[in-house]
Amino acid sequence: MVTYWCNAKCAFCYVYSAPDRGGKMSPADAVAFWRGLQQHAAGESRTMKIHLAGGEPFGDWPQLLSIVRAAHEAGLPPLEKIETNAFWASDENLVRARLEQLDAFGMNMLHISADAYHQEFIPLDRVVRLLSMARRVLGGRRVRVRWWDTLLRPVDVRGRAVHEKQSIFALATAKHADRIAGRAADRLAPLLPRYPAEHFRNRRCESEILQSRHVHVDAFGNVFPGVCAGIILGNLHEQPADVLWERLSRAWPSNPVLEAVVRGGSYALMQRAIEVGYIPRVDGYASKCHLCSDARQFLFEAGIWPHAIGPADCYANARDHSETAAWREAIERRRVSLPVIQ
Ligand code: SF4
Repeated sequence: MVTYWCNAKCAFCYVYSAPDRGGKMSPADAVAFWRGLQQHAAGESRTMKIHLAGGEPFGDWPQLLSIVRAAHEAGLPPLEKIETNAFWASDENLVRARLEQLDAFGMNMLHISADAYHQEFIPLDRVVRLLSMARRVLGGRRVRVRWWDTLLRPVDVRGRAVHEKQSIFALATAKHADRIAGRAADRLAPLLPRYPAEHFRNRRCESEILQSRHVHVDAFGNVFPGVCAGIILGNLHEQPADVLWERLSRAWPSNPVLEAVVRGGSYALMQRAIEVGYIPRVDGYASKCHLCSDARQFLFEAGIWPHAIGPADCYANARDHSETAAWREAIERRRVSLPVIQ
């Protein structure tokens, strides 16, 4: 995750990427992290694949190009893919030039995000332009769109009234199961069936935390499990990848967040949060990750376990809270929301 900055503020974002969020991974850091991960993987006789994402990695094109070039020149294993929302694809020549450079530096695949949430901010013609040029420059097998049905049945969400967006998102989230964490917990959870916290008792997260084959590394060096951004496993500025994993495999029970979610899931984390003042939501939770996200938001704001819960870009700020309040008010006015299932 080379940055948390994004031109958009998608309702399904599992962190809080937005135009007012930041972080910037330097090419030197990217190469150091990449090399460390590669050495760790090689030590375990595994291969490693790198994806560059954000936020929106094309928000700072010189930075992105410098990272890809530096990794190529350092002889690191090829870049499997870069993910983008296509916001920058305003001109064919610009698109061609950028794709040709990325291709020359070893990018294998371009992954284009296209869905109702992104299309609230990005005109679909930019997605179509990028897709068509990527097919020409890279070949069709090296381009992916998530989700193709967005192109087959386009929905222009921009300029719609809030209640129309909510209806569109309610359909979209029911169709494609998304991670209900970060901003998605604020925006999508109220559009889904919800359950009391008790429903998620004993939904342990051992596989997501200790057996995940996918991790995120952010611009500050934080390492997160693949589906749990905001739960810090360690920091690559403080220790190289092999040391981080060795310590994690041995000492994870001494990390209070990991200990709770591995042994008892988000319900156990919620119980720890209740001990320091968290009040469970009366409107319930859409998933175990929604419960986790809500409890962690409380712990983050209370400054509890900052080495394990952070950084700020993974959690709501005052502006997010006020936008969420307006969003929920609109849901209640229109009764888009579903009742809590007992
Ligand atoms: S409940 Fe929390 S720890 Fe478990 S998978 Fe979801 S985000 Fe990760």
